[in-house]
Amino acid sequence: MMSISPGPHDALIIVDVQNDFLPGGALAVPDGDAVIPPLNRLAALPFGCVVATQDWHPPDHISFAAQGGPWPVHCVHASAGADFPDLLDLRSVTHIIHKGTTQARDSYSAFFDNEGETSTGLDGLLRALGIERVVIGGLALDYCVAATARDAARLGFTTIIVPDACRAVAGAAFDHDTLSVGTNIGFTALAAFGELARRR
Ligand SMILES: [Zn+2]
Repeated sequence: MMSISPGPHDALIIVDVQNDFLPGGALAVPDGDAVIPPLNRLAALPFGCVVATQDWHPPDHISFAAQGGPWPVHCVHASAGADFPDLLDLRSVTHIIHKGTTQARDSYSAFFDNEGETSTGLDGLLRALGIERVVIGGLALDYCVAATARDAARLGFTTIIVPDACRAVAGAAFDHDTLSVGTNIGFTALAAFGELARRR
């Protein structure tokens, strides 16, 4: 297996690992808490930066059912549901990106809103830090991880999803290969990072 040794030009992006997306949360992703141990292991590797994103909505956000949106109320800014779970090791996180922060726009991607019009600033941040490759894990694989990876690849970053560090709203039925169709998104197993992880 090809091994990957993260360095200063690599970023780890931890997508939306927040209480509301975990079992017991308002919008729980099946088996969502299974992403935490692999993400903690990845975050301990010497990435140039480790970015954690948070869905961060006003109480009347357009994505909520009461506003005609597809989702129950979730990740209201500064609520317990929007917080990181205690088990997520934040010591290596260098930057936090909030998304979906304005009432009238949702943002699955960590880079842009769903209309592709408003940037979260993540693209400029990664470029300023000299990042060339991004490694992505988190929740949910079929929504926010997928949208983040598509934008990253389109922006020119070498883009790798770690499927073991992701779970999908659709559960195990989701075929992650569908994500790579027509894109240059790569998939790399957590085990490919193993040697380096064991050395630390
Ligand atoms: Zn949301």
